[in-house]
Formats: sequence, C-alpha cells, structure tokens
Amino acid sequence: MPGLEDIYAAGDAIDFPIKHGGLAAQQADVAAQAIAAQAGASLTPEMFDPVIHGMLLTYGKPRYLTAQISGGHGFSSEISDTPTWSPPGKIVARYLAPYLDGLDRERVRSDTTLTSERLTTDHADAQPAITASAVSA
Ligand SMILES: Cc1cc2nc3c(=O)[nH]c(=O)nc-3n(C[C@H](O)[C@H](O)[C@H](O)COP(=O)(O)OP(=O)(O)OC[C@H]3O[C@@H](n4cnc5c(N)ncnc54)[C@H](O)[C@@H]3O)c2cc1C
Repeated sequence: MPGLEDIYAAGDAIDFPIKHGGLAAQQADVAAQAIAAQAGASLTPEMFDPVIHGMLLTYGKPRYLTAQISGGHGFSSEISDTPTWSPPGKIVARYLAPYLDGLDRERVRSDTTLTSERLTTDHADAQPAITASAVSA
C-alpha cells in the first residue's frame, strides 16, 4: 500500500484500474513474495508486472488473448488460435494459480462423488417400486 509500511493488499479492492482474477492472483503472488522476504526467506521479491490472459469462447475454436499492461493501459496485445501460456488455465499466476486449480479440481471431485452417491441412493429407493410394479403387472 503506497505510503504505508508493512501493509499489502491485492485484488479488486486495490487502487489499480483493471479488475481481473488473473491480475488479482499476480498481485497476491508479489505481495506474498515481499512478505516472505521481509520474514527472512532467501528470495528477491519481483515487481508487479501485469499480464492479462483470457480465453474467448466463440462458435468455433476458442481464441487466446494476451495483453501486457502498463500504467493501467494495455501497450501490447496478441490473439492466437493456441494458448500462449502454459498451463492454459483460467487464472495465470506463479504461486496462487496452481493452488486455485487444485481447489477447483477438489470441488469437481466432491461434486461428482455427491452426484454419484445421490444416484445410488435414488436408485436404491426406486428399486422396490420397480419390483413391486413388475410383480403386480
Ligand atoms: C460477472 C463477472 C465476471 C468476471 N469474469 C472474470 C473472468 O472471466 N476472468 C477473470 O480473470 N476475472 C473475471 N472477473 C473479475 C474477477 O472476478 C475479480 O477480479 C476477482 O474475483 C477479484 O478477486 P478478489 O479476491 O480481489 O475479490 P473477490 O473475488 O470479490 O473476493 C472478495 C471476498 O471477500 C468477501 N467479503 C467482502 N466483504 C467482506 C467482509 N466485510 N468480511 C469478510 N469477507 C468479505 C466476499 O464475499 C468475497 O468472497 C469477473 C467479475 C465479474 C463481476
């Protein structure tokens, strides 16, 4: 935070004109590096060097967009048929992105488990009814 010592912030709440999940994660990365360095970790904190990556869904193939930002304005951008970043995830940031990806995968796994448990339970409830109607037919 400009003018304040030892206070860091990241994301939509800060005074940066572009609000974007990837930028928020990149800001969190550099804040975490600065805090780690201050706490004695042996690393040199990087400066915030914002890059926006986005996937544009179309009727055909998706397009991959990249823009380098300076002073809140894009100064170079490109569009491509193939991802220009790797891995081609939704959030692109060195430390936070893999963590957020992991949370997403965990959520999908537990949703899938819940859905299959519900299907099994529903099927178990439905079985006697099918049997009963088969018997009475
Ligand atoms: C409709 C929409 C679509 C978007 N699509 C994209 C996209 O495709 N790609 C992309 O990169 N970005 C996208 N963004 C922008 C992206 O969502 C934000 O830039 C990003 O979520 C900012 O992260 P954040 O952690 O700063 O804030 P948030 O994600 O808003 O997190 C703030 C959290 O703080 C909580 N909170 C608020 N007040 C309090 C309180 N008093 N006490 C405790 N908790 C509190 C909120 O409930 C929330 O969980 C989109 C935004 C919108 C609105």
